[in-house]
Amino acid sequence: MPAQTVTISQRGVDRVLSGHLWIYRADMLDARGADAGAVVRVQDRRKHFCGQALYSSKSQIALRMLTREERPFDRAFLAERIAAAASFRQQVADGAHAYRLVSSEGDLLPSLIIDRYGPCFVIQTLSQGMERLKPQIVEILQEAFSPRSILERNDVAVRELEGLPEQKGTLAGEKLGEIEVEENGLKFFFDLMGGQKTGGYLDQRENRLAARAYARGRALDCFCYAGGFALHLAQHCQAVLGIDSSPQALDLARRNQDLNGLTNVQWKEANCFDFLKAADQEKQRYDTIVLDPPAFARQKSKLEAAWRGYKELNLRTLKILNPGGFLLTCSCSHHVSEADFLEVIAEAALDAHRAVSVVERRTQARDHPILLTVPETHYLKCLILRVM
Ligand code: SAH
Repeated sequence: MPAQTVTISQRGVDRVLSGHLWIYRADMLDARGADAGAVVRVQDRRKHFCGQALYSSKSQIALRMLTREERPFDRAFLAERIAAAASFRQQVADGAHAYRLVSSEGDLLPSLIIDRYGPCFVIQTLSQGMERLKPQIVEILQEAFSPRSILERNDVAVRELEGLPEQKGTLAGEKLGEIEVEENGLKFFFDLMGGQKTGGYLDQRENRLAARAYARGRALDCFCYAGGFALHLAQHCQAVLGIDSSPQALDLARRNQDLNGLTNVQWKEANCFDFLKAADQEKQRYDTIVLDPPAFARQKSKLEAAWRGYKELNLRTLKILNPGGFLLTCSCSHHVSEADFLEVIAEAALDAHRAVSVVERRTQARDHPILLTVPETHYLKCLILRVM
């Protein structure tokens, strides 16, 4: 049992009982005995044990629950959790070389991300508590996987809420920036040090495969980043155009195209909103479109603007699709529920005067588990639609 104790209110206890892993600062009754980032014993006002958690002295999320068991959350416990996550990946990411090994709350390791790119592991420790456990996590990974390299991509703004600095670098093994890894039979360079996220958008791995199954004719990949969807589409389409506002992303996309010897893809640096508006006005037509924008509603206050953004993008794309064409459209804002997303697309379809059927309702790849009692873990909504 950890020596340090935090006492929570009845509302906090109810939250623990509801299966959520985050307990807010407003529900702390007494945290005087807790150090920043410590594993603490959580108790109610009658001193009854509620569980063990990572304590943060700064964040509004004061406690991140680790377990309801009394067994000490030590290195062996941590290693077991990582091993359990890895064993699940052998089922759902079997054959994948780039995948999420540990997905934070979804693997009962709140605020820890571990992405695997072949022999390299990239980690993010996004709370004071996980930051403290970082040396142990690195050791556990070394023992279990003998990786070529372990990097940290802790250059993310959320760390500020924890009072932690933004930093990135090599934690163990070789100093590597870029690495070539296969996905669904295609080869990709991942820029682990300079790329977005930990180098790639691994949560779309299964959706890229799904997109390929419907792809045909002339295709558009909006918000293409390093060409993940575009290159999958290119295997089945006559011509593909990938669009992104980031020149670095497009450089990588071009190199990925060459790596796979595909000649039917072009890239364009543009704002997708402007591009789609012009494409609609010019009456361009496509058979397959992918829309994978960044999160528009990172905060609840941005919901209305997000709604307008999704509506505009989906309206334009539905208008420029040929009859029988497919749209794979995504939202990665956890504040936007699937029901909301379906509603906004229904509005867009009506405004576009198109009849649209829902062919598949999808989400993030299974190596990004959704914890039933933590709704925030269901963040990616992906619909495959057919325009009639
Ligand atoms: N579809 C990609 C991931 C997309 S992430 C994949 O499968 O890997 C979102 C991308 O949108 C980023 O690459 C970012 O550079 C780009 N982006 C953000 N705002 C944009 C805008 N207004 N117009 C075009 N691209 C934009």
